[in-house]
Amino acid sequence: MLASDSPPRADWLICWAQDGPGAGPFKDLRVDMRCVRAPPGTGAGHTTGTDSSRHQAHLGVGVEGVPLADFCEPPPPGGVETMAPQGSRAPLEFGGPLGAAALMLLLPATMFHLLLAARSGPARLLGLPPHLPAPGALWSPGALLLWLTWLGLQAAFYLLPARKMAEGQELKDRSRLRYPINGFQALVLTALLVGLGVSAGLPLGMLTEMLLPLAWVATLTAFIFSLLLYLKALMAPASALAPGGNSGNPVYDFFLGRELNPRFGSFDCKYFCELRPGLIGWVLINLALLVQEAGLRGSPSLAMWLVNGFQLLYVGDALWHEEAVLTTMDITHDGFGFMLAFGDLAWVPFTYSLQAQFLLYHPQPLELPTASVICLVNAVGYYIFRGANSQKNTFRKNPSDPRVAGLETISTATGRQLLVSGWWGMVRHPNYLGDLIMALAWSLPCGVSHLLPYFYLLYFTALLVHREARDEQQCLQKYGLAWHEYCRRVPYRIVPYIY
Ligand code: NDP
Repeated sequence: MLASDSPPRADWLICWAQDGPGAGPFKDLRVDMRCVRAPPGTGAGHTTGTDSSRHQAHLGVGVEGVPLADFCEPPPPGGVETMAPQGSRAPLEFGGPLGAAALMLLLPATMFHLLLAARSGPARLLGLPPHLPAPGALWSPGALLLWLTWLGLQAAFYLLPARKMAEGQELKDRSRLRYPINGFQALVLTALLVGLGVSAGLPLGMLTEMLLPLAWVATLTAFIFSLLLYLKALMAPASALAPGGNSGNPVYDFFLGRELNPRFGSFDCKYFCELRPGLIGWVLINLALLVQEAGLRGSPSLAMWLVNGFQLLYVGDALWHEEAVLTTMDITHDGFGFMLAFGDLAWVPFTYSLQAQFLLYHPQPLELPTASVICLVNAVGYYIFRGANSQKNTFRKNPSDPRVAGLETISTATGRQLLVSGWWGMVRHPNYLGDLIMALAWSLPCGVSHLLPYFYLLYFTALLVHREARDEQQCLQKYGLAWHEYCRRVPYRIVPYIY
């Protein structure tokens, strides 16, 4: 642990804590940084450092000309503080074990509520659906078989030769994992297989009759899979654990995920689930709903076409830019537990297809001029979303790339830089802004008579606000004062001048 060598600026001094013997100076740090006022005349001061027993670079850098008092907490009443003991845990998220337990019940319950509400006459978001299904309606051996076949098919596509192998971010032990970039190929192969099946008479629309039992087996799979992952993680070395999922509380750790990158050989469970069975399953369910609507009403409605088109663009984009997922919080920070397993396998396909489900049971008239405006809203959202994500990914891969070389940056003590102009100079999460605009465009074709199809927009706003706060916390730990300087230069988080 150590103090800064640099002279104090103004009347503040920042010091840094370092974890673990052998960690190089100003490397391998993870500190919850707080500043204290230097005792007058001494130029001395310190921060509290919370060793999270992880070995990542988390060093901030002082910024000339910025009054540190702007972003430092005032000194504690007791004066000098001490470092937290080695091995202390990362702060618990999601309300700790109780919050995790509540979410494990609430999320599946919400998903089933939405599935039932979408097909009910009143289609109410709030309040119980008018008819609860008999327990037998949830279980179907055919659905189990179909689900396992689906997982097996996507796993087989994952194992096919990839056009590229990409390296992930550096891990605690300084190694990097390799990942196949063949998600888009999996989408195309799935489309070909489904196309062949439909032309051979496969009743794709029947899938819409199986959504409840399919959602049920997907939920069961997520529970069983998370349990196996939890048990596997008990045998994993400390260096393989995720920053947040090893609190020692089994409920919390089961939910958040203990191991960062659980693998069987070269098969990466989290990376596989993140973009393939769930995302491709989502657009397949959408397509089945469109086919079913065509069967019922002679042709798919314009609203159904729009929802299918917008969401196919989103999924296709995610798989086309699959490599970008390697730098997201899900891959680099969160362990693989129930939160991601349920989210990827059950929540995404069965909840994100809500607008198309709603439209099958509640057709909505849509005129061409309104549809054009909605397309424009989606295009604006996509432009911001793609522009922001590509700019950051290009910059992270190669800061000298001509497309980003001219952008203004802030240096950090980790050696990495933060963009402070371009998309990332507009708000601190421009990609979230674009994503939210697209979420609005996906709901608008469903009209304004019901709140239900706007569930995705409401839920996604809450998710991104929470995710943004988690990311800010992690960036603060990584970049310290440089992050504060970034926040000072770019004061809005997601929506300019509003939030
Ligand atoms: P982001 O892509 O927003 O990445 C955040 C990271 O970017 C930070 O941790 C930091 O990491 C880096 N960063 C932040 N600010 C800057 C800057 N100024 N300059 C350079 N790098 C910066 O993370 P997410 O994983 O949350 O989101 C990825 C995409 O996925 C988003 O478009 C989001 O909308 C979408 N998403 C969609 C969901 C859905 O269900 N549809 C759910 C969640 C996300 P570092 O410095 O280490 O590179």
